[in-house]
Order: sequence, then C-alpha cells, then structure tokens
Amino acid sequence: SGFCEATGIYYSKREHVKLPADPSLTLPNFIFHHHSVDPTATAYIDAATGASLSYGQLKTQVFSFAAGLSSFGVQPGDVVLILSPNSIVFGVSLLAIMACGAIATTTNPLNTPLEIAKQASDSQAKFIVSLPSLIPKLPKLLPLILLKDFDKNDLEHLGIANASLERNSELDRHTLASFLAKRGFPRFAIFSELLQSERSSVSSDHYGRQDDTAALLYSSGTTGTSKGVILTHGNFIAQVRILTRVEEIIPWALRVYMCIIPMFHVYGMAFFAFALLAKGSTVVLQQKFDLVETLRAIEKYRITHAPVVPPVLVALAKSPMVQKFDLSSLVSVGSGAAPLSKEVMDAFTKRFPHVYVSQGYGLTESTAIGANTATAEEARQYGSTGTIASNMEFRIVDVASGTPLPPNQRGEIWMRGPTIMKGYFGNPGETAAVLDREGWLHTGDLGYINEDGFVYIVDRLKELIKYKGFQVAPAEIEAVLLSHPMILDAAVIPFPDQEAGQIPVAYIVGNKEGGLTEEDIIKYVADQVAPFKRIRRVTFVPSIPKSASGKILRRELIKIANSRL
Ligand code: AMP
Repeated sequence: SGFCEATGIYYSKREHVKLPADPSLTLPNFIFHHHSVDPTATAYIDAATGASLSYGQLKTQVFSFAAGLSSFGVQPGDVVLILSPNSIVFGVSLLAIMACGAIATTTNPLNTPLEIAKQASDSQAKFIVSLPSLIPKLPKLLPLILLKDFDKNDLEHLGIANASLERNSELDRHTLASFLAKRGFPRFAIFSELLQSERSSVSSDHYGRQDDTAALLYSSGTTGTSKGVILTHGNFIAQVRILTRVEEIIPWALRVYMCIIPMFHVYGMAFFAFALLAKGSTVVLQQKFDLVETLRAIEKYRITHAPVVPPVLVALAKSPMVQKFDLSSLVSVGSGAAPLSKEVMDAFTKRFPHVYVSQGYGLTESTAIGANTATAEEARQYGSTGTIASNMEFRIVDVASGTPLPPNQRGEIWMRGPTIMKGYFGNPGETAAVLDREGWLHTGDLGYINEDGFVYIVDRLKELIKYKGFQVAPAEIEAVLLSHPMILDAAVIPFPDQEAGQIPVAYIVGNKEGGLTEEDIIKYVADQVAPFKRIRRVTFVPSIPKSASGKILRRELIKIANSRL
C-alpha cells in the first residue's frame, strides 16, 4: 500500500521525479527552454474556427505578448485578471503574464459582474485581459487588454449604433477609445498591437523565481467563500513534471487532446496550458461541451485523449448520437474534479471497450492532481481515483482523534508535496485552518487507501458543493439568501443528482406571513449568481440545526435530506 507504520504516511509507489533545482526558473522558461518539441508541430487548434498555432508560433507569441504587456505597464508582481472562455489566446496570455513576472487570476465567464468584481478586488488585480463581448461583465477602471479585435457580432452584441462596421481596424482608434472610456475603461490595448510591440526586453531570459506566485486561483476550500489559492511557478513546474513522467503507449508528441475543461480552472490550466505544451502534444480547444460538436471534433482531429468531467462521460456512455461518429482514435478518456459512479463507468466501458477511463483526484490547493490512474492497468481498479502521484505523500486521518489510519480505514485525506499551495492570498487564518506546520494540506475529503495503494474518495466533509465539476460555496449562496427581507435563516447543502453529481438545495426559515414561495427564492438567487450556482430546490423548515457556537450543522441536514431519497 505504500503505508509506513512508523510515520503514518502513505508514500507514492511510483518512481520519484527529479524536479529542476534552479531556483531562478519560471514556468514559461521551464516549458519552452527545455523543449525538444518540433517547432512545426501543432500546439493548439480551435475546434470552432479551425485556427491553429504551431509550437514555434506559440513560443514567439508568448514572449512577444509578454513584452507587449510590459510595455503596456504590467510589472512583475502585478495581478492580471483573465476573463475568457477556452481559446488559443487564453493559453498564450496565461504564459505571457507569467513570463513577464506578473500573476494570473482567472475566473468563470459565467460569473456575474458582481462576482467578477469581487474577485478583482480581492486579488488586487491591476489589469484585465478579456474579450470585446465580455465588456459588460468587466470591472471598470482597470486598464484593459482585449484578446481580439471587435467584429460585427461584438458590435451588435454591445449595441453599438454603427454595426455595419466589420472590424475595429475600420473603427478609428479615437472612436474605439471614446467608446471604451464611456464604459469605464480609459486605457486599453489589443492583443494584436501588443504582439507587434518590438520591445522584447522580456524576451526569453529568465524573469523571476520558482518561489514567485504565478497564479491566484479561486476556491472556497473547506469553508466559507472563495479565496485566492497562491500557486507558484515551482508548484506548476512540479505538477507538469509529475503529470508527464510516463511515456506510456502513445508518445506525448503523437497525442491529440480534446480540451473542453475550462482553462480558468486548475485542472484545465495545468493540463492544457502547461503540461501538454511541455511535451509537444496537440490540444484541440472547445469553449464548452456540446455533444455533437465534441463528437465531430473527435472524429475530425483523430483525438486520442479526452480528459472531461463526469457529466460528459455520462453523455458519451448513453447518447445515441455517439454511434454516428467515428471515434476509433480514442485511447483514453479522463475523469476528474468530481466523483464518477461505477454505473457510468460500466456503461462507458461497455460502449467503448478499448478506451480506458483514467481518473484523477486533486484540488486547486494541490495544483490539480494528487492521485491518478496513470496507466490502463491502474484504470481497471473500478471506483478508485488511482494511486498516489510521484513525489506526493498522503495521510488518512481519523476525523475524531486525529490519528493516521492504516489501509482500508476511512478518514480525512491529507496531502503533502511540491504541488501544495503556499496558502490563501491575504488570509492567514484560513490558510492555517487547512495547511498545518508540517506542510500537510487537510483536504476536507473523506477517503481511504487500500492494501494495494489505490485511493478511494468516499465523501466530502467540507461544505463545498460541486455542480458538474464547478465549485459552489454554500456560504456565498447563504449570504445572498439572507439578504432577502423575508428570509430569516438559510442553509445550503448538496443533494445528489445523476447528471450534475450534486445540486445546491436550500433550507429556509421564512417569514410566513409574507407569502414567500419556493419560486420566489429560486428566482431571487438566480438573479444574482452565475447559472451553475443556482438553488435547485427549497425546503421550508422551522429552524436550521446549529452547533452551540452557531455553526450550521450541515452533516445533519445532509443526513435528513438523503434519508428522504
Ligand atoms: P477544485 O479545487 O475545484 O478542484 O475542487 C476540489 C475538490 O473536488 C476535492 O476536494 C474533491 O472534493 C473534489 N474532487 C476532485 N477530484 C475528485 C475525484 N476524482 N473524485 C471525487 N471528488 C473529487
């Protein structure tokens, strides 16, 4: 099992990976400088437009955009907020921001303007990188870098009178500047302009250290609302090395990956913006999952690997559409970010007996993967998320007594290793609550490790709800509910759901005389939060169970809810 009785630690049974020792190595330099990748090979393809970028072009773009960012005023240590769905320029921007010593913070484009503004303020963002179509969602007064020129659709979308103009190149700069200034953006630049900037002072020299912050990714952790997870260049470098350690059946350079998972989330970022680029794979990008489009792309680009979230696997396993496409190129489908049921796995394997389903378990706080099924062999262990990743250590800890547990006993999963975050940004209290002095991350997940070293995730002790792999923080939704004048008390908990994994449901103590209804409450929340955070059901209760200190007894509520299943 890899368990050591004396230390109470489960060690990885895989070969130890040697991590680069040079302290002045940044992630972009790590990815591009040690590159043995053919510069003419394709790095990215945008499935919707067919646009592509070779490795040679990618490297040039990353470093010249980094130089452009510097000339626009982005300085080392500045936080740059990226708001964009998956795209080639998203990948370029992430690496460029890091190459000029700045820090990327990413957020879901489905979030509301208020949610985005909160993150911009919490992370102390100084610049925004986004798309013309997202202008109404962007926090005002920050210097803006647009990832693409305005096109006709954007102009129409934004209600610009003269929509007959095809592109902003035809809009003169003055018109564009006054348009943006009117919307609260006095200073702006466009990707294509910054790319052409000749000041390549950043070039490809090293700039910064492994220990510098590379990204602030938002996660609610074990309790409360969203916090900025500090991930360093070194965290990502370690994750890339660990993820790509094995060559396996198909060499990395021959793999074609489907990227549907959002690059704003750690899972998508670590894979599709970093690890695969370090290895020379081809990444086919999609903005969001659409079954037919995805199937078409798998057929057209001969996709070999498709890491997804469980609901996508459900669709692949069950939809009759699947039969209409040639998916014979598929070798492996990955599942992560949320539990995968045995039923779905069986249905999928029945339909695709030659495709193995690999699983991964990890958190934003661990720069993605901490345990995974790295081989077809390991993937045969149904229900498990695989074995401990190289260089990582696990503990399974008894929740009541805090003692480390031997194989096959359930407890809280603790993780330690080179991918564990530095802490939560500006939040020493929350950091201390999950990261102990010995460097263990207390994950808030309940699981066990069997005698062969396979990790099983059983339940979540923490508050976090995962809707289709997206984080929903109950505390955030409860705050919205409590702002309603007729709601006296509220608790939000997860409820099992076939398609989404979990849905957020609310328990409400309401002012009875007011005639408050379930629909009112659902709508009240829906108007204020991103669609994936919506409350899907409301139960009225006389009171919310609470501990002596006033904390909501969520486990109790969850038990009650599940007993009604
Ligand atoms: P995030 O920070 O958004 O990646 O969320 C991390 C959380 O997602 C973990 O703490 C788990 O609760 C859950 N999670 C991630 N991977 C898995 C998995 N393979 N099985 C079950 N839950 C998972």
